[in-house]
Amino acid sequence: MTATEPASAPTSSGQGLVVLSDVNKWYGELNVLKDIDLTVRKGEVIVVIGPSGAGKSTLCRAINRLETIDRGTITLDGQPLPQEGKALAALRAEVGMVFQSFNLFAHKTILENVTLGPIKVRKKGKAEAETRAKELLDRVGVGHQAAKYPAQLSGGQQQRVAIARALAMDPKVMLFDEPTSALDPEMIKEVLDVMVDLAKQGMTMIVVTHEMGFARTAADRVVFMADGQIVEENSPEEFFTNPQTDRAKDFLSKIL
Ligand code: ADP
Ligand code: MG
Repeated sequence: MTATEPASAPTSSGQGLVVLSDVNKWYGELNVLKDIDLTVRKGEVIVVIGPSGAGKSTLCRAINRLETIDRGTITLDGQPLPQEGKALAALRAEVGMVFQSFNLFAHKTILENVTLGPIKVRKKGKAEAETRAKELLDRVGVGHQAAKYPAQLSGGQQQRVAIARALAMDPKVMLFDEPTSALDPEMIKEVLDVMVDLAKQGMTMIVVTHEMGFARTAADRVVFMADGQIVEENSPEEFFTNPQTDRAKDFLSKIL
């Protein structure tokens, strides 16, 4: 794909909830995102996999505008991502993000962690925000921990709180960047189960993970990235059983 390719390719805007067209980013000389074209439709679950340094985190961070891009466009619901100010804060609420490290506020209770954004950004009343937060904490299985502080919870519980916190903003799409890679093995499943549930309920999701079980169960498409490029894009069945490129074959041979 080249920069001169017309925007009438199947990835053009209009039908996608998140549409990236010819997205490029450089860190100095390093072209960390190269000509990325990706359309994520409403309700779709995309799993992004690829070796370390492929640009997966940068891609996620660009979609909620934690990083700027140097060329190309990203739209959410047909609108270009805002550059600054209130519109940018609103965008961050609409694009929920869950990181490898849970990033909860250590000096706030679990309940406060989940109500803070809705009260400050969404301007919800405290009572309404708390009711909704409790519902969400129940949904991710930590409702009984609402009065505790993050350090009193296990990593798996904290990560489920982080998911509830993102959901409390009523996001249009959820981004997950290796949400289970900092967890002890026994806690991975409880987090993946919450994510599978979300997928079943129709949430649009972009998930960077090497959890192949999750990809097979929940992904509509697997996007394989290497060296800043999308190298392959396929259904999970096809990708795992019949990878097309040497890069993907080599990667899969190392992780499967
Ligand atoms: P991945 O998540 O796939 O491991 P990243 O998106 O984190 O990859 O990084 C892609 C490349 O960009 C890597 O080579 C990384 O070293 C580089 N990189 C990431 N962030 C920065 C930064 N802030 N400044 C310079 N280089 C960076
Ligand atoms: Mg990463």
